[in-house]
Amino acid sequence: MSGKLIGIAAAGAALATAGIEFAATRRPTMPQDRAEYAVGVPAGEDADGELRAVFLGVSTVALTDGQSTIMTDGFFSRPPMWQVLGRRIRSNSARIDEALRIAGITDVAALFVAHSHYDHALDSPAVAWRTGATMVGSESTRNIGRGWGLAEDKMVLPDLEEPMRFGNFRVQVLASEHSPHPKFTGFIADPVVAPARVAAFKMAECYSFHITHTSESGKVRRLVIHPSAGFVSGMFDDFSADVVFLGAGPLGKQSDEFRAEYWSQTVGALGSQRVYPIHWDDFTEPLGRPLVAMPYFADNFNTTRKMLKQHREVDGIEFAIPEPFVTIDPFADLSAPS
Ligand SMILES: [Zn+2]
Repeated sequence: MSGKLIGIAAAGAALATAGIEFAATRRPTMPQDRAEYAVGVPAGEDADGELRAVFLGVSTVALTDGQSTIMTDGFFSRPPMWQVLGRRIRSNSARIDEALRIAGITDVAALFVAHSHYDHALDSPAVAWRTGATMVGSESTRNIGRGWGLAEDKMVLPDLEEPMRFGNFRVQVLASEHSPHPKFTGFIADPVVAPARVAAFKMAECYSFHITHTSESGKVRRLVIHPSAGFVSGMFDDFSADVVFLGAGPLGKQSDEFRAEYWSQTVGALGSQRVYPIHWDDFTEPLGRPLVAMPYFADNFNTTRKMLKQHREVDGIEFAIPEPFVTIDPFADLSAPS
């Protein structure tokens, strides 16, 4: 996603200097209706072996059962637009520490990196190091890890054949596609030493994650974290999942046909009952509440919300917008998780 936002942002920045700054910053307002948002688990309630999730911006999602924790991406630095456009970027230790502290995350078993664009992988090595996680990502992502100085034995390539097991989690990593027209494609051949330009974070392979959690009480929960709004046809044909954290950026800019096919290949194929849209937030703004949607030049989250509402009405598939740092039971009140 980053490429699209960044590419068009150059035009936005030019407009800003021309004195019509509003063009670069106009964006959909987030809904005022609380019914559109995910309902949090009461603060202080222990996971007690049951699955909990917390959304932390873009496609960073942490899952925990109180005993083990897994996470995607771990992107917290969110450098401002001016830095992304004109300068070099690096991990922001203070922002990482603060986000992990507020989220109450100390130990992570595995950190799954969606692809190597900076809005996914910039902080992954630093987060893996802080939390003791094994970083699971492509060879290009490992080169980001090497540039940062993460130990070789803390970085593994994903297993695309067999589920990877961490505590009570089983994660099947699936090859996927980026949202259409990605910028900065290709592979990272050498360690990326920060500070580095955004273009150094070349996309490489894109992954999606099918996760099965079996609680101590025997409940089996299946969910998918699908970071980017692209797909490989048939990728979920052999899978089911009641819940999908669905990559939504920049879905609002695609055609109706693309959105319909994307929905059918993900939510439809998985037989999901509930969708949590992710990657809809403007990641050049800090991680805080409330998060703001991407500006109109990059996406239109209103269009995505319209799609979500239509599916709720027509197919009965629920959706809820997750908010950062709000712990949720992603399966709460589902009729009959399969
Ligand atoms: Zn991307």
